[in-house]
Amino acid sequence: MKQLDEPFLYGAPSPQALYDEAVANYRDFVNPPLARVMKLSGSAVEVRASGTTIYDQNGKAYLDFAGGYGVFTLGHSHPKVVAAVQRQLEHISLSGKVFFNPLLGRVARRLAELAPGDLRISFFANSGTEAVEGALKLAKAATHRHKIVSTTNAYHGKTLGALTATGRDYFRSEYQPLVPEFEHVAFGDAQALEGALRDAAAFIVEPVQGEGGVNVPPRGYLKRVRELCDQYGALMIVDEVQTGLGRCGFRFAVDEEGVVPDIMTLAKGLSGGIVPVGAYIARPDCWNAAYAKQPLMHTSTFGGGELACAAALAALEVMEEEHLVENARERGSQLIDGARAIAEEFPEVVREVRGKGLLVGVELTSEGYAGAIIPEMLHQGVTAAWTLNMQRVIRLEPPLVVTAAEVERALEALRRGVGQAREKLGVLPCPT
Ligand code: PMP
Repeated sequence: MKQLDEPFLYGAPSPQALYDEAVANYRDFVNPPLARVMKLSGSAVEVRASGTTIYDQNGKAYLDFAGGYGVFTLGHSHPKVVAAVQRQLEHISLSGKVFFNPLLGRVARRLAELAPGDLRISFFANSGTEAVEGALKLAKAATHRHKIVSTTNAYHGKTLGALTATGRDYFRSEYQPLVPEFEHVAFGDAQALEGALRDAAAFIVEPVQGEGGVNVPPRGYLKRVRELCDQYGALMIVDEVQTGLGRCGFRFAVDEEGVVPDIMTLAKGLSGGIVPVGAYIARPDCWNAAYAKQPLMHTSTFGGGELACAAALAALEVMEEEHLVENARERGSQLIDGARAIAEEFPEVVREVRGKGLLVGVELTSEGYAGAIIPEMLHQGVTAAWTLNMQRVIRLEPPLVVTAAEVERALEALRRGVGQAREKLGVLPCPT
């Protein structure tokens, strides 16, 4: 890894001046309450990142176990992806859409080769929530039905359609009325789903609920979901925006049970953390039922540009060449076992550790502990993050290139964070 002698300061006269400027700009022009929370949490200014490490304005290195909420599967600034993007930048960056974009075709073809079953037709956008919007629209157009079933505590994004599918009222209540004819059923409960699927266009589900607090469903759940969707003529949309592309120790999390959805959404790791990209991939029967004669029903000006596609092609190659799926599985077991040992040591603070591959959640007995543990981990030089729907769960989601020694370092920081929180805050009341 590159050693940095001098921090990069974006032209600011000193590290402190850069920090003050960034905090003031967030406070005055970006998001005042977020500025406050980030400041209290001990967030510094990011100035460089490489591999599993982020460097702040003072040159301090942080082992990145927040991993951009799952984006940095290949680590930061992977040289192969950076080189592909730099090379592409000299030729053409963004598709004009009048001509064929050869890289778009290649990424779509490669995804079809990697994805399970007959998933084959891809649509490209720029984010996870747009991938979900595309999937929901496709399901409606393919079935001529209106109802969508989703799960409680799900997270599918914050644009209006995806937000309707998202299962947390805190994010939704201000925006009512949302898209009509959505129903939420308990995650992991196939019986609850059965009652809701009649006349539904689709059921959308995460293989592991990431933002919901890293919830792993019972074994066999997705298989049963597939059977029920077939029985009721509803499409199965699997949202692999966070779980896909190696994160859960499988190329796609659905591979564990050998399930083939009708539509699968991807984003986060798809372009190696360099250029934003989101996508859905659909079975041809499903796609043709909607759009066989309507090529322009769902489009995106920026989606699938050459830069994003060059990044995605390189990222998909790296995932295979560096055996990241296998590493996610092995390091994931190490991380889960180590975090469970910490839970045993501090049962008053940690209620449960769960996860799959390198998507790991540490559920605390009280939300109050997270506010002490995350800043202490940062102080120790390790990033970690909350989950968006469940503030009591700290997620550990490092790049899939993480080493055994780095996992041990993060576990040591977590242990110190938990120990300090216990010492400082005592035993906090647990919500039921
Ligand atoms: N779906 C899932 C499963 C996610 O985890 C997320 C983001 N955490 C999204 C959709 C939305 O992605 P984005 O923030 O890129 O819109």
